[in-house]
Amino acid sequence: IFGPGRPNSRGVNLNVRSQYQPLMEAMAATMEKEHRVGPLLAFEVADDPTSQHEVASPYDRRRKVGTVQWTSAEQAARAVDAAWAAFPRWEGTPVAERAAIVRRLGDLMETHMAELMTLCSREGGKLLTDGVDEIKEAVDFCRYYAMKAEELFGKPMPLPGPTGESNQLMLAGKGVFAAISPWNFPVAIFCGQVVAAAVAGNTVLAKPAEQTSIVAHRVIELLHEAGMPRDVVQLLPGDGPTVGSVLTSDPRITGVVFTGGTDTAQIINRALAAREGAALPTLIAETGGMNAMIVDSTALPEQVVADVIQSAFQSAGQRCSALRVLYLQEDVADRVIEILDGAMNELRVADPRDLGTDVGPVIDEDARRGLSAHIEKLKAEGRLVAETRLDPALTGDGTFIAPVAFEIDGIEALEREQFGPILHIVRYRASEIDRVIESINGRGYGLTFGVHSRNESFADEIAQKIRVGNVYVNRNIIGAVVGVQPFGGQGLSGTGPKAGGPHYLLRFATEKTVTVNT
Ligand code: NAP
Repeated sequence: IFGPGRPNSRGVNLNVRSQYQPLMEAMAATMEKEHRVGPLLAFEVADDPTSQHEVASPYDRRRKVGTVQWTSAEQAARAVDAAWAAFPRWEGTPVAERAAIVRRLGDLMETHMAELMTLCSREGGKLLTDGVDEIKEAVDFCRYYAMKAEELFGKPMPLPGPTGESNQLMLAGKGVFAAISPWNFPVAIFCGQVVAAAVAGNTVLAKPAEQTSIVAHRVIELLHEAGMPRDVVQLLPGDGPTVGSVLTSDPRITGVVFTGGTDTAQIINRALAAREGAALPTLIAETGGMNAMIVDSTALPEQVVADVIQSAFQSAGQRCSALRVLYLQEDVADRVIEILDGAMNELRVADPRDLGTDVGPVIDEDARRGLSAHIEKLKAEGRLVAETRLDPALTGDGTFIAPVAFEIDGIEALEREQFGPILHIVRYRASEIDRVIESINGRGYGLTFGVHSRNESFADEIAQKIRVGNVYVNRNIIGAVVGVQPFGGQGLSGTGPKAGGPHYLLRFATEKTVTVNT
């Protein structure tokens, strides 16, 4: 459905070979390079042979991408000193200068697209098409946040003066932000967090995910090349709990911008709350989802299946927005499942660098093991309805999981988010629709949601009642566009504000009212 030479859900053929051939050639040049990276801090860091960690490719664990030297707790603490010291200078830097640096990063990432995509693929197992989208999204974040920063921070907002005084509202950076990101969008989310915090006038300590620190390192190198001072944005690759606990326990950290699992967000929240004598912090957390789609009997089955395949299996289901629970009205359930089964038979699970691949690997052995255990449990219950064949000749030593679909009784049967290509299907009767909505809302997550129906008032009513951050009607539920479809959840799925939206930068800023007796 979303492989090369085939149209996407809106009938646009995005994946033609000729479009990607020049990129493929440029990628080949850096495909085999072995990287050696480490922290990028305001001070020099000596080589430490005891803290080198190897990164392997998810599509072939025998292939080494490189080694990463992790940041020690002492180095993390020194990095906080440097970020704290740099804050007044950076906050006083005109917003036009801050925005210009961020725009230059966008331009540099475009110029280095092939190199960054290669790393996304080698470290994160990304398909070429996903890699293109990823880098474009990161570039969009740079340009959008630079533009918004100039709008918001450029000049003070005049306020009414009924008292005969002049009143103004101004925005400024808050202080030092820790930016903690996941591996599944190793450039877009990583870069979006960092540039938003920095362009708003904060200094930033960026902690990338362990699995994708090499590409994060390259982005920060480019940011420094774009003119960002080394003490304003620092990179701290390393172990989450080790680096994280230094950052989240330090009273000088004014805010944390986090994307990752709900459990990790709760650990960070507790650590911030436990700090004695610290100013009340800002926590911006974008977390997991248990995303559902409701399909009624008026929906077009072929379109439903095309959108379900994309929503559930694109990026091997490793998107926070991915579809996990598909509710099918009983009159159309058998028909939709039949077409779904046919479509899933056509998917090709293989090396992500091959243009013919639809589904690449999952990120690592831990992820593969966890997903396999969930699949075994569902298989034992005997409710498998469709699956894609895994061909060992195409998957070799990689951490692959073939897309599967199972029937379950309801969303309540799922204990936790399953971050991979596993689709759960629930049949419902038309008379049960209110109960279906109650159980989706009652699960507590609230990220994405889809409805497929040709009955406009049904779709409108459902979209209104469902408590999530992003609702999609008659299309897939993934791939929000920066500045157009602001993205983020509620409840267990996140605190907001929405990334790529007009209010995002405000949470990184402090407001000051200045009243002058004229
Ligand atoms: P994760 O395990 O929660 O890790 C996210 C980041 O937190 C990593 O950098 C990790 O470091 C770090 N970390 C781990 N323990 C920490 C601690 N005690 N203190 C501070 N930082 C800590 O999540 P993930 O597996 O990378 O990503 C998948 C999850 O992200 C899924 O749940 C997905 O739904 C969610 N996600 C949400 C959105 C959204 O916008 N809502 C977008 C993308 C992904 P290490 O790498 O060293 O463990």
